[in-house]
Amino acid sequence: MAAAVLAEFGLLSGCHRRLKASPLLRNETKKRAGRVQCLQAQTVRSRTQRIMEGIAVSGEVGGAGGAYSYNALKRLDQVWSSICSDETDKQEPQQVVSTIPGLFSKSNLAGRAVDTFDVIVCGGTLGIFLATALSCKGLKVAVVERNILKGREQEWNISKKELLELVKVGILEEDDIDQAIAAKFNPNRCGFEGKDDIWVEDILNLGILPVKLIETVKKRFEALGGVIFEGCSVSKFSVYDDAVVLQTTDEIILPSRLVIDAMGNFSPILKQIRRERKPDGVCLVVGSCARGFRNNSTSDVIYSSSSVKRIGDSKVHLFWEAFPSGSGPKDRTTYMFTYVNPQPGCPALEELLEEYWDLMPKYQKVSLDDLEILRVIYGIFPTYRGSPLPASFNRILQFGDASGIQSPVSFGGFGSLTRHLGRLSDGRVTITYFSPPHFQFIILIALGSFCWKTFMI
Ligand SMILES: Cc1cc2nc3c(=O)[nH]c(=O)nc-3n(C[C@H](O)[C@H](O)[C@H](O)COP(=O)(O)OP(=O)(O)OC[C@H]3O[C@@H](n4cnc5c(N)ncnc54)[C@H](O)[C@@H]3O)c2cc1C
Repeated sequence: MAAAVLAEFGLLSGCHRRLKASPLLRNETKKRAGRVQCLQAQTVRSRTQRIMEGIAVSGEVGGAGGAYSYNALKRLDQVWSSICSDETDKQEPQQVVSTIPGLFSKSNLAGRAVDTFDVIVCGGTLGIFLATALSCKGLKVAVVERNILKGREQEWNISKKELLELVKVGILEEDDIDQAIAAKFNPNRCGFEGKDDIWVEDILNLGILPVKLIETVKKRFEALGGVIFEGCSVSKFSVYDDAVVLQTTDEIILPSRLVIDAMGNFSPILKQIRRERKPDGVCLVVGSCARGFRNNSTSDVIYSSSSVKRIGDSKVHLFWEAFPSGSGPKDRTTYMFTYVNPQPGCPALEELLEEYWDLMPKYQKVSLDDLEILRVIYGIFPTYRGSPLPASFNRILQFGDASGIQSPVSFGGFGSLTRHLGRLSDGRVTITYFSPPHFQFIILIALGSFCWKTFMI
């Protein structure tokens, strides 16, 4: 293709014809040359691409920050670029939820149901925690996960106090938690350039292994009778008067009294609800876990070492986070993040990474040449006014990142779950029958004080 374009512009070797150009033609020639340079530039691999393609990627998972490959970065950058694009360019989102008057039990689909559940949780990263907590309450629960239900390798930062909430709720033993803790570090700095640093103890000072923790919770869930459908992508939800019926791309039919949407920031249900409305703000984060840091005992919860910087067509204020990683004494994770209003011209994640390779060594006082990059990490956190998201359909509630309760300051979606799970799983599913012929009942499920919802069914 590039060769064809070069040939068209007469720039391939062998083309000796010279034109006596008019000013108009000279301008056009300049423009064409610019486009050609662009095409040539595309064939040059960026530093990010070279670094990422030099790392053997294994253990990628579906949850946020669980993909480490260059291809996955390009895919997320495409999603990000479409969020930034003008509203007019956007397509109508797919309608995955529809309301169907009448009873599912009387419908043609009823005979094809594999099983019936009290609650089906769609998405198994944070979803498995809520599913297990609800199973502990005696409910019949299933989890449907489009990938393998597995936590990511990159650690989550959290404080011990928050972790112990999982023990309080009864889904884990303290010993399970201790086994999932990969790193402990103190003290932890909050700092802004030109101001005195503040050092804190025991705040976000643990690195927990999602892969280990989720494995343990998964076993507990199954021991409680929970059912997991792995490798099943949910594509359709039909809300009847007596059930919500979920259909997977493999045509599995699963009716339930309630569906919990734990499919993260890019949940297809969220897309339908938000109708591609631009987020009110987005936190962009890039970083790496690398080996070779000599000073590796303390952490930065948040640190700002730079004033506003131009990246691409935007000016951004960069913040940092850095902490020891459990994979080795010299392994350290560093994140560089910023907050932007999504609009054309915002920096791509790859552009941020290109800056990161220059700025991170200065920030951490190391040389990139002395580091072995173990994994490159990136993510985008959309935030909306009016969060948490109010329920938009009967029998379907959002949870985890999909609900908008995570903190875009600390990226703490897991931390946020632990703080809320007690209230969430204390959710009493109260069923009150009204007198026939209405056959109505009300399900009240407490998803935290912020999310008590009444469903008239
Ligand atoms: C770089 C980065 C660093 C972070 N660091 C921390 C940290 O230190 N501490 C912390 O507490 N949090 C951290 N977070 C946030 C945390 O990772 C998220 O809040 C958490 O993963 C959210 O979980 P979730 O289950 O709500 O959504 P997700 O993690 O997005 O998981 C959604 C799940 O739904 C599945 N799914 C999607 N669509 C379908 C479908 N159609 N059918 C079936 N399944 C589907 C996906 O495969 C996935 O498993 C970080 C995030 C990033 C990106």
